[in-house]
Amino acid sequence: MEKRKILVTRPQLPPLNEFIPLLADIWDSRWLTNNGKYHQEFEKALASYLGVPYVSLFANGTLALMAALQCLRIKGEVITTPYSFVATTHSLWWNGIKPVFVDIEPDYCNLDPARIEAAITPQTTAILPVHVYGNPCDVDSIQNLADIYGLKVIYDAAHAFGVRLNGSSVLNYGDLSIVSFHATKVFNTIEGGAIISHDIKTKKRIDYLKNFGIANETTVVAPGINAKMNELQAAYGLLQLKYFDTVIDGRKHITDRYKKGLKDIPGLRFLDEPIGVDYNYSYFPVFIDDLEFGRTRDEIYEELKSQDIFARRYFYPLISEFAAYRGLPSAKGLDIAHEISRQIICLPLYPDLPDDVVDLIISIISYMSQPDGKKVPIKILHSYEKKNKLPKK
Ligand SMILES: *Cc1c(COP(=O)(O)O)cnc(C)c1O
Repeated sequence: MEKRKILVTRPQLPPLNEFIPLLADIWDSRWLTNNGKYHQEFEKALASYLGVPYVSLFANGTLALMAALQCLRIKGEVITTPYSFVATTHSLWWNGIKPVFVDIEPDYCNLDPARIEAAITPQTTAILPVHVYGNPCDVDSIQNLADIYGLKVIYDAAHAFGVRLNGSSVLNYGDLSIVSFHATKVFNTIEGGAIISHDIKTKKRIDYLKNFGIANETTVVAPGINAKMNELQAAYGLLQLKYFDTVIDGRKHITDRYKKGLKDIPGLRFLDEPIGVDYNYSYFPVFIDDLEFGRTRDEIYEELKSQDIFARRYFYPLISEFAAYRGLPSAKGLDIAHEISRQIICLPLYPDLPDDVVDLIISIISYMSQPDGKKVPIKILHSYEKKNKLPKK
């Protein structure tokens, strides 16, 4: 029998029949990259959809982060979180900047503003927080500290596409925000990303930087890089935008189903939906208290895996534990981040995840929580598979 796997996410694609005419148009035009028609249109459509002043498209989120740091001429030390995807810290390393890790707060797993001040030195130039799982950081406290100490704030908003705080895009906070449109993110252009900026001069500088620093035929204004998004991806992105609201509705449905099914199991914690936030349901993180639940996070992870369900431990290990960074003085301590990283499991979440599979995951976790150390009785997924057809991979 063909083996089918349930992965933590499955990218949404626009209808192929809508993409083909756009491809035909690009074929006719022979304009493939360098700020073409679709690139310009997609930047405008994104700015208007998100409610932000300026968008600069990028080939991916990592290059956008690297260029954002270059744009603001960030040097020395930057305060950041160990609880993120490695690209956050790598972007500092590629700019010759020293990362200074500060612990997170346990409620939303974001950088803890109360601990930032103690980490500021004369070399500190900026703060690089992450809106983890799309939940907004304490943007007011962070801006307040930045104002007092004269620091820039760049948000890694890779998870926060479409999130609004008090009615306005969360991407409007800080000096710059970056988003990622990687295949695994809520909104994808296969690979891709963007920087959100607030004035036209900054946008211009970003746009030079992503195209070798070229201002015109004879002028190079900065040592830029090549980080441009091409026309095919921009056209694909325009179509994705049309369907994004439906994607959010689908994700909310799955999230609600998980919460309802798992809420009475002891030892599980979910993130509360923060007040005043329009959320994007980008992940479904569950925190396992192993004493109360009776099994460890890794036992759940392995059991699901044995049933061909691939949850992910975002974020474990911490960035500060990787070889490149573990020698830094700030890699010590970080007790809350370590504890959260030991508890976290992100369950599969995407709009067309069948309800039956969600219920199956709930029942596996529920079996595992039973006190007499009961094993999950059968390979539930395999028996389920015989009865119902799981979506083909
Ligand atoms: C995905 C991600 C990135 C990197 O984005 P890419 O588009 O994959 O380069 C950076 N930071 C965080 C928090 C991410 O999740």
